[in-house]
Amino acid sequence: MTEKGLTTLNIKKLNKSKVYHYIYRKKATSKLQIVQELEMGLSTVSQNLRILEEEGLIERNGYFDSTGGRKAQAIRIVADFRISIGVGILKNMFHMIAADLYGNVICTDTIALPYSNSPGYYRQVTEKIREFIARNCFEERKILGVSIATQGIISPDHEKVTYGKIMDNTGMHLTDFSRNLPYHCHLEHDSKAAACLELWNHPELDSAVVFLLNRNLGGAIITNHCIHQGNSMHSGAIEHICIDPEGALCYCGNRGCLETFCSVDALEQEAGMSVKDFFQRLREKQSAQLTENWKNYLDHLAFAIRNLNLVIDAPIILSGYLASYIQEEDIDYLSECINLKSPFSLNRKEILVGIHGQYTPAIGAALFYAEQFLNGI
Ligand SMILES: [Zn+2]
Repeated sequence: MTEKGLTTLNIKKLNKSKVYHYIYRKKATSKLQIVQELEMGLSTVSQNLRILEEEGLIERNGYFDSTGGRKAQAIRIVADFRISIGVGILKNMFHMIAADLYGNVICTDTIALPYSNSPGYYRQVTEKIREFIARNCFEERKILGVSIATQGIISPDHEKVTYGKIMDNTGMHLTDFSRNLPYHCHLEHDSKAAACLELWNHPELDSAVVFLLNRNLGGAIITNHCIHQGNSMHSGAIEHICIDPEGALCYCGNRGCLETFCSVDALEQEAGMSVKDFFQRLREKQSAQLTENWKNYLDHLAFAIRNLNLVIDAPIILSGYLASYIQEEDIDYLSECINLKSPFSLNRKEILVGIHGQYTPAIGAALFYAEQFLNGI
């Protein structure tokens, strides 16, 4: 092919990409708006809209209110043109979600199944994933892939778990899943997957420290709009920051890690009841003991936030299971505690709370495929 031919092809692809991404960002737009905003000729826009529509990527659906003259047709992307499946593996259960190209969750499911690093376990999980896809009637060709978030540090090539003390899943391999699934598969550390979702929901953030407040604590660092991985992939493992060298034993073998104070497991152990019961009774304000337990929890969280904010001067995101129970008054208290002793104050508005609860890692994992697809257009 001549150089000129190649360039023309590139320009065509670039224009198609520009038009698609503009529609994606706007959610609903009109042909005229695209022409004006992208400063593209009417015929070029018309041609690209026709191509995108023929490929099934966009749809013309409904009309904008007329401001005089003919009503403009509303143009949108087809959000479920492709579907990403996210899986969140935990010690005693796993979550599954399906997400569209906006990262909106279409359906979820939770299966109680104790983890074991055995062929039988992986067979059962992958069977359930296939059932989940079939039950929701997703056409095979629409599935971009299955992305699996698991506890444990992942190898840089995302092929296996290199440190998995919580679930005893060191050595868990991507092929354990992919050999039984007719889809692309991807493996991700659950804390990093959670951070992907938070970054997706807050594209304006350059940097942030993410606390994954799950049954076991996790964390991630966002810098320069990316999840910081580190030389051996353990950047953001804030759960093992030492709070009290004489404290309770952590699963990592050390004492007094943040995990032993701020994980959901630690809170439940301290309160002697499930998180669900704990918050119900706490909010009724009937028990001074539970109020004390909660203050204690927030005090330790504030301690960690204050120290981490000195390393990364950026917003804090509280994400995961416990985040769905956190209320405004808790953020007020947390903010007071953080600023009581810090030389630099952290604005209350810089404490953000995630909204996807226990499904956070699974949704974040699924975004891997949605993002890959969007980048390819
Ligand atoms: Zn530890």
